[in-house]
Amino acid sequence: MAWRFALVIDPVASDEERSDYADTLREIDPDGPALGVGELSAQRGDGIFESLGVVDGHVQEIEPHLARLVHSAALCDLPAPNLGQWRVAIERAARAAGEGENVMKLLLSRGVEHGPAPTAWITLADAPDNSRGRTEGVGVATLDRGYALDVPARAPWLLLGAKTLSYAVNMAAIREAKSRGADDAVFVTSDGYLLEAPTASVVLRFGDRFVTPEPQAGILHGTTQLSLFAFLEGRGFATSYETVPAGDLSRADAAWLLSSVRLAAPIRSVDGADVPVDRAFTDELNAYLLSPRD
Ligand code: PLP
Repeated sequence: MAWRFALVIDPVASDEERSDYADTLREIDPDGPALGVGELSAQRGDGIFESLGVVDGHVQEIEPHLARLVHSAALCDLPAPNLGQWRVAIERAARAAGEGENVMKLLLSRGVEHGPAPTAWITLADAPDNSRGRTEGVGVATLDRGYALDVPARAPWLLLGAKTLSYAVNMAAIREAKSRGADDAVFVTSDGYLLEAPTASVVLRFGDRFVTPEPQAGILHGTTQLSLFAFLEGRGFATSYETVPAGDLSRADAAWLLSSVRLAAPIRSVDGADVPVDRAFTDELNAYLLSPRD
């Protein structure tokens, strides 16, 4: 991955209004060392992040990503982000974007152990080439997430629904899916309901109706799924958030993994069995997702 830009942010209080944040932003060499050895994001994964797609210099869906950063911060008892400061930092990072697709990451960590304040930084890099997944699709393996649908409400300390930096489990799930001959995983609850992929939302199509699992099920509310639902509703399709039985993934007329950087990757097989792919429709979805979106 080629890094293009990195900026360290000295977070200011969420209610501090300023006309200028320049003294709180420090550009650093994106290939150089940047974090202290006591950094809790590195030691414990104790922090949150967002990944935003940047297409031809346009940062996609800034406000939905900032809204989710605020939500994740609240779930993790991190200080509320100052949105004015983050908007300025995003704008600075966007200036380093090139043509084509880049990925911007916003990171907010609990900070250095025994340190006075959280740490935050923003990076910009070239996006990986996702064209193959978008056109040829992905095979998925369904994996038990190990908890039932009611766990997010019963055990909020699991931070389900927060986009935390603790992605080791998500990465392990992808490795497990690959060892089963698939490209990616889709998590299901122990009582048999569909959740999400380790780095993407899942959307199913039944006729003219598009369905995604409810975010209250302890999954991330995907900004790409939100944006896609608005697009589909504008085209006259029905959309809904539901409790989706895991078996629906194989019964759907079509299904996609969706995320800010990958965009729409059609699911072409579930646990080794082929499922239908609508290539032309997927191309339309990706044309929309690649267009400038706010
Ligand atoms: N679910 C998980 C676990 C993710 O990591 C992601 C994105 O990285 C998503 C869903 C999709 O979110 P978004 O569309 O906002 O990128």
